Amino acid sequence: MIWYLMSRAYLQCIAESCGKPLESKKDSFQCPHCGGLLEVRYKFEVMDPEQVRTQWHQRRLSGEPIDRSGVWRFRELIPFTEEGTRIISLSEGNTPLVGARRTGWWAGPVHLTVKHQGNNPTGSFKDLGMTACITRADSRSVRVVACASTGNTSSSMAAYAARAGIKALLFVPKGQISEAKLAQALDFGAVVVEVGDTFDQAFSLLRELAVEMGIHLVNSVNPFRIEGQKTIVAEMLEQRAWQPPDFIVVPGGNLGNISAIGKGLRELKGLGFIEKVPRLVVIQAEGASPFVQTFRAGSSELLAVDFPDTEATAIRIGHPANWQKALRVLEWSNGLAESVTDGEILEAKTTLAEDGIGCEPASAATVAGVRKLVRAGAIDRDADIVAVLTGNQLKDTEYVYRHRKVGESSKTRLQVEPDLDALRQALMDKLFAVPV
Ligand SMILES: *Cc1c(COP(=O)(O)O)cnc(C)c1O
Ligand SMILES: [Zn+2]
Repeated sequence: MIWYLMSRAYLQCIAESCGKPLESKKDSFQCPHCGGLLEVRYKFEVMDPEQVRTQWHQRRLSGEPIDRSGVWRFRELIPFTEEGTRIISLSEGNTPLVGARRTGWWAGPVHLTVKHQGNNPTGSFKDLGMTACITRADSRSVRVVACASTGNTSSSMAAYAARAGIKALLFVPKGQISEAKLAQALDFGAVVVEVGDTFDQAFSLLRELAVEMGIHLVNSVNPFRIEGQKTIVAEMLEQRAWQPPDFIVVPGGNLGNISAIGKGLRELKGLGFIEKVPRLVVIQAEGASPFVQTFRAGSSELLAVDFPDTEATAIRIGHPANWQKALRVLEWSNGLAESVTDGEILEAKTTLAEDGIGCEPASAATVAGVRKLVRAGAIDRDADIVAVLTGNQLKDTEYVYRHRKVGESSKTRLQVEPDLDALRQALMDKLFAVPV
């Protein structure tokens, strides 16, 4: 599908001491003056929020692929495409916002709904960013895209690159990414290189090579990823009749997602779509919590973690690339940052499952964090909270098997002799036993 629109976008350095716009016509991820991260800025048209909201709503009835996408339906917020741009879309977004009553009670009580990004084409929120950055790469005639990844970025990149007819190269830490994610990347035909022991190591190697070999990086330092990802806010607010919640809670790895959500809110506020700003909350795993530590210390340097450790592999990151962007949106929204143990993540995931909601361990960190913050008095009871569940339940089945072991003590996972009496006995015990 071809889309015509005047680009109103330019790239600008985020460093306060620099802040220069990028003059080169070529996309870049780093400011040529100071090495800082870049972000996409716009000269937005003047919009009438009421009218634009109606238009967004009406597009849901359209059969056009560009309107069916939960990212491009909000294209007024991402006007970086140029005349003749081909939109690379898999009908991403359009994810459900569902109540989680038991989990809300367990975590608070708070009024909890979850925005389930696991319902995306490749099973994570990464698809929102990938449609934007692969569309951009394709419009720049890029031939090879690459990323280092804890898994979901690779699944997503592989799918969108395949769709665009672009070669995909993937660096993953050896033996550290879930089988399902690796399978997706392989299935979509990406070239997969297992290298290094941590994400950070794989990423720094790739970063060096990419510059040298002219390979186009689509890690979340790619500012166009953030543009696609920020549209989650518009979709969520639309689902809530444009009433912002008190808190939006997000798991933090490389911190692209929280940065995107903050940027989205900030722009929507600037354009007059909302008044109230929800407080943004980042939750990290205790063994991989560089951002929480940095935020607490009020440090102007990242307090990086060299050997990040958590079972929630999607957030096992010690040197988050977007920490400065994240810090800024937390300050802007009067936000919070907290860490939770792997045990707390497991408990949260188990509780979500009792609401019929499955997700990745990293996603469950959000509600574990809410519980901890309510107990500490940092979040009020009865607060209106949206937790962003970032990834699909089936992304990490090894985790489930590890924690739902078969055996005497298991309430749910049985192995029984093929004998009716044995089956009766076992099922009486498990299904009808009176708790003592
Ligand atoms: C990528 C990812 C995260 C972390 O998001 P960042 O933008 O890197 O902070 C969390 N959960 C899941 C399932 C992910 O795939
Ligand atoms: Zn700069």
